[in-house]
Amino acid sequence: MRLRLRVGGGVEGTVVAELIVVGAGPAGMTAALYAARYGLDVAVVSKDIGGQMAKAGWIENYPGFKRITGPELANKMYEHVRGYGVRFYLDEVIGGGRRGDYFELTGRSGRVYRGRSLVVAVGARKRRLGVPGEREFEGRGVSYCAVCDAPLFRGRRVAVVGGGDSAASAALLLAEHASKVYLIHRRGELRAQKYYQDMLKGNPRVEILYNKVVEEIYGDKRVRGVRLRDTRDSSRSELSVDGVFIEVGFEPPRDFAEKLGLEVDEKGYIKVREDMSTNIPGVFAAGDCCGGLAGLRQVVTAAAMGAVAASSAYRYLRGG
Ligand code: NAP
Repeated sequence: MRLRLRVGGGVEGTVVAELIVVGAGPAGMTAALYAARYGLDVAVVSKDIGGQMAKAGWIENYPGFKRITGPELANKMYEHVRGYGVRFYLDEVIGGGRRGDYFELTGRSGRVYRGRSLVVAVGARKRRLGVPGEREFEGRGVSYCAVCDAPLFRGRRVAVVGGGDSAASAALLLAEHASKVYLIHRRGELRAQKYYQDMLKGNPRVEILYNKVVEEIYGDKRVRGVRLRDTRDSSRSELSVDGVFIEVGFEPPRDFAEKLGLEVDEKGYIKVREDMSTNIPGVFAAGDCCGGLAGLRQVVTAAAMGAVAASSAYRYLRGG
């Protein structure tokens, strides 16, 4: 095959940069921003722009922005990073590893990404509930993204499953569109921040159903409802809803870590030291794929980890 040179270095089908950042959530975009400001030549390869942040409803705890939607903040970060000449490639990394003194990653597109250092910021995957009907009705009433699908449920009744910040945030966003939102939680108290709990309790469209688990999502062409079991007395009930939003947490990208030979902890998150270095020299990781920072998984902690990863990558590449 004849290879042609591309503007900015590399050959057709091959992207060459000093630093390759995998993932364009807040961790990856901040890493790219810092690395570019250190003067490194940076390319970002990602399935999407913004990661989970772009699927968040209202973000009210990122300093400087009193209230901004996830997609808006993602877009602002993207424009900010692009302003430093960082190249972005919409692609999914499906494998790769070290080849001599550089790393080579393969994208689903067939493109190859070659860099002397890597920042892995691939985030975490939404956990599935694993009940009958979930897979069958995905896209026909079952959703994992309130910010994407909330407007489709204007005036309808919906359920949100989960008791953490994501479920609370999704329920509040949905209450701006739906006529009724049931928040179904398996325990007697929510895990979500007090701020969210107060907002939920003060919202007349939201009803919290405690100590209930969804056993089945049923319907015909679309979702019609959920079958519930009470965790205290095992009594069963049905709730008629048009949509079910599943927000039961995240799972680590274990298979991605395995493909690259990255060491993971007992939960499957990429093991990093304080400087975000991994078990592979020259590979750094940041954000939710490492399980967050001191247990916090927020936009601000992902961004902080990205900044540290970029600084460490800079030292690795340029010394000092
Ligand atoms: P999470 O904090 O892990 O909460 C998951 C929730 O789902 C928990 O309430 C859990 O119940 C429930 N759950 C898990 N598996 C279940 C199952 N099989 N059936 C029923 N319920 C199940 O996940 P998250 O809410 O997605 O949040 C992830 C991280 O992102 C957190 O660190 C969170 O703080 C952060 N986040 C922050 C914001 C914000 O600050 N604005 C917004 C969104 C997310 P139990 O409580 O019983 O374990």
